[in-house]
Amino acid sequence: MLWDYSSLWKETVNQIKGEISEQEFVMWFGNLQYDGAAEGTINLAVPSSFYKDQIVQRYKAKIERKLAELQGSRLLLNFQIKSPPRAQTVRRERDSLTPGPQTHPQLKHEYTFDDFVIGENNTFAANASIAIARNPGKAYNPCLIYGGVGLGKTHLIQAIGNASPADFTVDKIVYVTAETFTNEFINSIQDGTAHLFKKKYRSVSLLLIDDIHFLQGKTQTQEELFYTFEALYNSSRQMVFTCDRPVSELKELTDRLRSRFERGLSVDLQPPNYETRIAILKKKIENMVVSIRDDVIDLIARNVTTNVRDLEAALTKLAAYADLVDKDISLDIAKKQLRDFFAAPSQKNITIDIIQRVVSDYFSLSYADLRGKKRTKAIALPRQLAMYLAREMTEYSTTEVGYEFGGRDHTTVMYACQKIEDRIKTDSTLEPIIRNLKRNIREYRISS
Ligand code: ADP
Ligand code: MG
Repeated sequence: MLWDYSSLWKETVNQIKGEISEQEFVMWFGNLQYDGAAEGTINLAVPSSFYKDQIVQRYKAKIERKLAELQGSRLLLNFQIKSPPRAQTVRRERDSLTPGPQTHPQLKHEYTFDDFVIGENNTFAANASIAIARNPGKAYNPCLIYGGVGLGKTHLIQAIGNASPADFTVDKIVYVTAETFTNEFINSIQDGTAHLFKKKYRSVSLLLIDDIHFLQGKTQTQEELFYTFEALYNSSRQMVFTCDRPVSELKELTDRLRSRFERGLSVDLQPPNYETRIAILKKKIENMVVSIRDDVIDLIARNVTTNVRDLEAALTKLAAYADLVDKDISLDIAKKQLRDFFAAPSQKNITIDIIQRVVSDYFSLSYADLRGKKRTKAIALPRQLAMYLAREMTEYSTTEVGYEFGGRDHTTVMYACQKIEDRIKTDSTLEPIIRNLKRNIREYRISS
C-alpha cells in the first residue's frame, strides 16, 4: 500500500505560514521538504543536522498538532538530513545541455552550500539562499545578503549560482561585483555599446551582484541598475545582492533604487560564535593534506573571533608551517606562529577620540557637545554609548575615559556602561546600532 500525505502536508504548511512571521517561515520552512511517507509517518528532508535540531525544538510539536487537527489522527514525523545537491551534479547536467566550459566562468566552483558551515550566525541567510537556488524567481525576490567583511557574502551569493537549476545555462546566470558592473557600464557608453550592455543584463534568469555598497554616489550606474531591476523584477527573474551594511545605512543612493533593494527579503550574516568557528575550522581542515590537533583548533577558535576570512588565514599559516617545518604542531608553536593574529590588529589603533568622532557623526551631533558638559536628552544616550564603546574597544580605564568626556568622574563612566548593558537586554534595537558603530570605528581612517 502506498501512503501519500503530500496534500495534507501542503495544507499544514500553508496554515502554519499564516500563523508565524514571514521571516520565521522562510528560515524554518523554506527548506523543509516532504519526502515520502509510510503508514502513519511523514518523512521530511532537512538540509543539515543543525537545522534538524532547531526545527525539532521549535516546530515539531506545532506541526504535529496541526497535522492531527487536519487528519483527525496522530502522525509521526521522521526527519532526514539530505544536503542540497552538490554544485558538481548540477553542473554536469548543465554541461550535457551546453557543451563548453566545465563551470561558470564567473563562479568559483568551491563556493558551494556543502562547504558552507551553517551556525546560528548565518542560518537565516544560508537557508534563504538554499531556498532561492531551489526556486529562483519564486521564493524571495530580490534577496539582499548583508554583513561585515569576511563573513561569507561572496561564498553564499556564488553558491546560489552554483546550485541553481540545471536549465539555468551558463549564459543565463550573471555574477558581477558592483564595481565590475559599474566599469562595464561606463565602458559600454564610451564604446557606444550601451544597448548590448542593457540587453545582456536584462535577459538573464539569475542576476547576482556582489558588494552593492560600491554603488554609493554613482548616480548614472544606479539609474541603469534601477531599469535593469524593473525589467527583471517584472518578469520574475531572480536577483540577489550583497552589501556590507543594511541598505538603510547606505549613503548617496537614490530613493527609488533603495526602495527596490528593500522590496524583497533582507538577511544578515553575523560573526560566528565559538562552536561555529570550531565547525568551520574542522570543515576547512577536512580539505587539507595536513592534520591539526584539536587543542590547536581550540586555540584558534578562541582567539580569532573577527570573521571567517581571518580564521582561514590563521589556518593557512599553520598549514604552511606544518608542511614545511614540522608535521605535528604543538600548542606552543601554534601560539608563536599565530601571535600576529591574536593581537587583533584591527583593534590596535582605536582611540577615544575616534570613537567620539564616529558616534557624534552617527547621531548627527557635534563632536564638542558629545565630549562636553551639556546634559540634554538627545546627547545622553549617544554619550553613554561612546563611553561604553571606549571601555569595550580600548584599554583605557574608566578614569581615563571620564577625563576624555569633559573631565567626568570614573563612576559616571561605570554608570554609563551599566546603563547600556541593561538596555541591550531589553531594547533589541540597540544591538545593531552598537554593531554598526563598532564597524565604523574599526574602519575609521584619519582622512575621513
Ligand atoms: P565576504 O564576501 O562576506 O567578505 P567571503 O564570502 O569572501 O566573505 O568569505 C571569506 C572566506 O571565508 C571564504 O573563503 C569563504 O569560503 C569562507 N567562509 C565564510 N563563511 C563561511 C562558512 N559559514 N563556512 C565555511 N566557509 C566560510
Ligand atoms: Mg565578498
